[in-house]
Amino acid sequence: MKKIVSFFGDNNEVFEMLNNRAEKYARSLGFEYKWAIQKPFSYDAVIEELQNADAGIIDIEPFGEEVFSKVSDTAKIMVRFGVGYDKVDLNSATRNGIAIARTTGANTNGVAEMAMTLILASKRKLKLFGNCVEKGDWQKIVVNETLGSTIGILGFGGIGKKLASMLSGFDCNIIAYDPYPNLEIMEKMGVESVGLDTLFKESDAISIHVPYLDSTHHLVNAERLAMMKPTAVLVNTSRGNIVDEHALYNALKNGTIAGAGFDVFAVEPLPIDSPLIELDNMILTPHVSSQTIESLWNIYKTAIDIIADFYNGKESPHILNKEYVLVEK
Ligand code: NAD
Repeated sequence: MKKIVSFFGDNNEVFEMLNNRAEKYARSLGFEYKWAIQKPFSYDAVIEELQNADAGIIDIEPFGEEVFSKVSDTAKIMVRFGVGYDKVDLNSATRNGIAIARTTGANTNGVAEMAMTLILASKRKLKLFGNCVEKGDWQKIVVNETLGSTIGILGFGGIGKKLASMLSGFDCNIIAYDPYPNLEIMEKMGVESVGLDTLFKESDAISIHVPYLDSTHHLVNAERLAMMKPTAVLVNTSRGNIVDEHALYNALKNGTIAGAGFDVFAVEPLPIDSPLIELDNMILTPHVSSQTIESLWNIYKTAIDIIADFYNGKESPHILNKEYVLVEK
């Protein structure tokens, strides 16, 4: 029986439940399943587990030559629990004959719902108002509604599209920038494809859904923040380094933009002395957009399906280093 080892999850009842469910599901497909919890994370432990398994389900820690070269005789496929794979060295995996996959689409609902939550919460200044109430300061600052406003979606992939469909009941004017826009889908969804500058100038809220790549590093910088309306908010549930945090801090402090809602940061965990924490117009969450029971289970199930397809010789759109598959088959 082939064996899957999963490193994802915290030491609590929710992850015990999800991993028990994953074990049953894997067995129903003919696989042994082990949850090798990594809190704290240890490369030595991970390597040892992968030397005794046929597949790994990995979290966001960097994976490269140091691991792949030592486990290539056994673990022939690794699945990133999630979407972003910026910390996985695909070239090294390919050199070592290991297929890398990601669970694209499995956490779309969770992340899109979080983006929606952060748009609404930052537009309605929930952090500032909460702080005011705690201090006995019964302020009544007047804000704009999200209903009927212009929402800019930066990156119109799976999550961007889901957010657009959630916004459809809000009578918003939805605009999106994507370098590879699917104009047919956009038209059907009533979304206008616009240039990057237009997106920054016209939006009342911008939500970021692009992957982190060299080309998206600090895509949102001082210059782009200066283009935004002073009443607009910026939401990031994608990756921290897409935004220049120093420029963002200045923009929030100086009133260049009205607010922000961020789930991801350049350094995670966000250092507790980060100046972003003191801002009462920035809502911060600890990279938890996918942390819903529904999305988490969908990711476990998708990861196991990907591994089962791989060992059953089925083509999978989830494999990232296709050249590996082409070379091997
Ligand atoms: P996706 O691959 O379906 O969509 C990404 C879109 O971005 C694509 O349409 C692509 O064409 C577009 N894009 C690429 N480069 C761009 C650029 N320079 N400017 C604008 N658009 C560009 O991915 P997805 O499922 O929608 O996920 C998006 C990102 O969300 C992931 O890459 C990941 O980093 C992040 N994410 C975060 C969490 C979390 O827990 N916070 C969870 C899941 C995903």
